This record gives sequence, structure tokens and C-alpha cells, in this order.
Amino acid sequence: MAQRIDGKVLAARYKAEAASGAAALQKQGIAPRLAVIIVGENPASKTYVAGKARDCAECGILSDVIELPEQTGEQALLERVAALNADDAVHGVLVQLPLPAHIQESHVIHAIAPEKDVDGFTPINVGRMVLGEECFLPCTPAGCLAMLQSTGVPIAGKDAVVIGRSNIVGKPMALLLTAQNATVTLCHSRTENLREKCAAANILIAAVGKAGFVTADMVKPGAIVIDVGINRGADGRLCGDVDFAAASEKAAFISPVPGGVGLMTRAMLMQNTVKAARLQSGLL
Ligand code: NAD
Repeated sequence: MAQRIDGKVLAARYKAEAASGAAALQKQGIAPRLAVIIVGENPASKTYVAGKARDCAECGILSDVIELPEQTGEQALLERVAALNADDAVHGVLVQLPLPAHIQESHVIHAIAPEKDVDGFTPINVGRMVLGEECFLPCTPAGCLAMLQSTGVPIAGKDAVVIGRSNIVGKPMALLLTAQNATVTLCHSRTENLREKCAAANILIAAVGKAGFVTADMVKPGAIVIDVGINRGADGRLCGDVDFAAASEKAAFISPVPGGVGLMTRAMLMQNTVKAARLQSGLL
């Protein structure tokens, strides 16, 4: 039976670290501050943004939630981003995705100042990550990596399979695992023989967005399974991409949904915000 990688316990540890970092900055007269822009009424986005504001409060980080109407134009949004870039009191700038269809997300994300890009989505931060240079790591893959490391099982030399090649999860996850000296196979919707590839993996990361996608036959006995997916199951309950009960019979470690990667993503955002405040105060 697999050991559960408890995102709640681990995230609490990372948030406590962020909180002590924030407290140390405050002693020096620096108040770490995160600005989050949300455009429109997407209910899931609103829940995520509310969660981020709560995390900030918990960690002693100031937060501003800037709610803009659905019909906000791209130019107006770019101007809000530019104003936050120029505001010395704001250390982190985050634009909640997805944006309404009339706004090109890449234009907005690319406009965020790299030193305030606490999501790690701008080309400068992505490029630095590829080169293995100091940068803001994207929160979800950074959270997955922390979960893997929490098992104490060495990553170096292991065969890792990542399912999903999105810019925010799959691709950066593959890069971070490569940087840890794993041998990585990045799978996607056009991958042939996916089952066999997964079943040979010591580390399996699922970031597909389909409930029950990873079945027990895709899990190697003794593997570490990290489930990034956030889905609604047939019963309407929140679930990941992995058939948790069946996969637990084979894996050595497995992360649950809820109570897994989502909490780690939030904790990593707090860490990045404190890092941004340190960076902009000349302390890094
Ligand atoms: P995405 O839709 O951008 O990417 C999905 C990926 O899955 C694609 O690269 C696609 O090629 C791959 N895929 C689709 N069908 C496939 C198939 N049959 N076989 C193999 N690969 C297939 O999604 P995303 O933004 O990367 O998110 C993935 C999931 O993770 C979603 O459920 C999302 O809600 C969740 N997510 C969770 C967090 C978190 O904090 N827990 C953060 C981001 C995303």
C-alpha cells in the first residue's frame, strides 16, 4: 500500500517558511506585497484568487486583489500591469488565467516585470529555468518537485514520465526533473504506447485534466505517483487524473486530490512572493 504524500502537511511547512521570511523582511521595514489581477467572473478563478489572498494573510504578506470586468480591453489590462510593475510597494504581480477570449494571454503575461513574475511564466524566467539559472520557478511543478523530494527517494538516475506538455505544468516539470538528473519522457496526446511508457516509470507525474486517466496498469510497482489533475468525477466530487485507490495498491508513494499538488502550488506562490520582496530590496 502506497504512502500518501500529504500536501497539507508539506504545504504548511513551506508556508511557515514563507511566513518567517516575510516576518524577517518586516523587521527591516519591508512589507512583502502581492497584487493579483482577475478579469471577469470565472467562478473557479475567483475561488483560486480568494485562496491566494487567504494564504497571503496567513503568511504575513500584503495582498491586493484587482477585480476587472469581463469586457476589460487588452490595452487597459496592460496599463494595469505596467502600473503594478512601476509600483515599488508591490513585489509580486500575478494575472489569474484564463483571461477572456478577446485578450491574448501571452501579451499580458509577457508584460509582467520578470523580477515581479511570481508565477514564473514570463519568457525571461522560463529561459532562465531552461538554462538552470536563478529564476522564479512556476509554482505547480516546483510544488511537485518538493513533494517528490519529501519522499527521501533520490531522483537522480530514475526514469520519470510526465503526462501533459502544457507550458505551465508538463514542460517545466520535465525540465525540473532533468535538472535533478532524472531521465525524462514527456508524454502528450500524440504519444504512442503511453501505457507501456508509464508502466516503466519510477516517477509518474500526471497533468492531463481527465478523471481516472491513469489506471493501475500504468503504474510500476514501487513508483512515486504525483497527481496534478483537478477534475470533477462522475459523482461530482473533486478528483485528480489518477485512479487513486487502484494506483495506491501498486505505488510506493502517491499524492491525493484534493490535499495534494494544489496546496503545494499555493505554498510555492508564497515562497516566490517573499523571494521577490527580497530580490527587489537588494537582499538577494
Ligand atoms: P492542458 O489542458 O494545458 O494540458 C493537458 C495536457 O494533457 C496536454 O499537453 C495534452 O497533450 C495532454 N493530454 C491530453 N489528452 C491526453 C491523452 N489522451 N494522452 C496523453 N496526454 C494527453 O492542462 P494543464 O494546464 O497542464 O493542466 C492539467 C491538469 O492539471 C488540469 O486538470 C488542471 O486543472 C490541473 N492543474 C492543477 C494545478 C494545481 O495546482 N494542482 C495547476 C495547474 C493545472
